[in-house]
Amino acid sequence: MSASNAKVEDTTTTFTGWASTGSLPLKKFSYHPRPLGPKDIEIEITHCGICGSDVSTVTGGFGPLSTPCIAGHEIVGTVVKAGPTVFTRSATLSVLVALLIPAVTGGFADRLRVSSEYAYKIPSEIPPAEAAPPLCAGITTYTPLKHFGAGPGKRVGVMGIGGLGHLAIQWAAALKADEVVAISTSDNKREEAKKLGATKFVNSRNEEERKAARHSMDILLLTSNDKNTDWGELIDYVASHGTLVLLALPEIPTIAVPPSSLLMRHVSIAGSLTGGREITQEMLEFAAKHNVHPWITTMPMSDANTAVKLWLETIWCDVAESVVAIVVAVAGEPVMPARK
Ligand SMILES: [Zn+2]
Repeated sequence: MSASNAKVEDTTTTFTGWASTGSLPLKKFSYHPRPLGPKDIEIEITHCGICGSDVSTVTGGFGPLSTPCIAGHEIVGTVVKAGPTVFTRSATLSVLVALLIPAVTGGFADRLRVSSEYAYKIPSEIPPAEAAPPLCAGITTYTPLKHFGAGPGKRVGVMGIGGLGHLAIQWAAALKADEVVAISTSDNKREEAKKLGATKFVNSRNEEERKAARHSMDILLLTSNDKNTDWGELIDYVASHGTLVLLALPEIPTIAVPPSSLLMRHVSIAGSLTGGREITQEMLEFAAKHNVHPWITTMPMSDANTAVKLWLETIWCDVAESVVAIVVAVAGEPVMPARK
């Protein structure tokens, strides 16, 4: 390795987290962070959400990793150090770091050094544990709703009521969409969807309910899909001149869409992925103002392996009785039941 490629580390400082090289279990791993740059902040992490991409990283879904990787990008903590060009009114300014951090250093750890450009101020109304999931699941659903004009005069559908969907329903209700239709394959999400603000529920396995919902949604957010997704059935829910919005990459490189509705009813298909700085801060203020809450289960960071396992067994397989997002807390909070 040439000198110019050598990794520059602050050998006077050690951070510790839960790392993987592409398979479970996560193992305790310590590393020297990069030197604190002029624009950097050092964060004492209090909470970190678990997202599907974290799980794919640590279980090898994105392929093996050449070095131990600490995943976690829905990070909440307190700024304890700041580089000379970072403006902080207080050294204890609370921030969120929303970033899909490349291999090696992430949020399943005690501390993190990162550019201050990734930090957001958490409104005081939002408890720190609840600030984590909005950074990924929240912005992924808030951005397309704003972009496609969800609000009065628009009927919004949300397909899939999990980590993304339970926030999407709350956003759409708070934006005062005329209808908020929750669509699920499972009838046991019916009551929860209503609690989240849905005005209608459609069990997609119930043919009568499905037929009644045909051509009724101006914006339909598709929160997950797989190789068996019936694209014709999805387009059938969308109203003429409406838009079907993909929020997750299909497992297959191409999707087969029956074209007739696109031509005959002017239906569009679009996709959306997270959001920029401005809209992320706006979303946090909106969540505080309109009382939007992720439904979370928190576990101590020392139980990170149990948390990832729980995520795989419940959220991934969609067998969770209630919708939950899982957040690990450095502070060692006890396991809490999902919020009802
Ligand atoms: Zn994420």
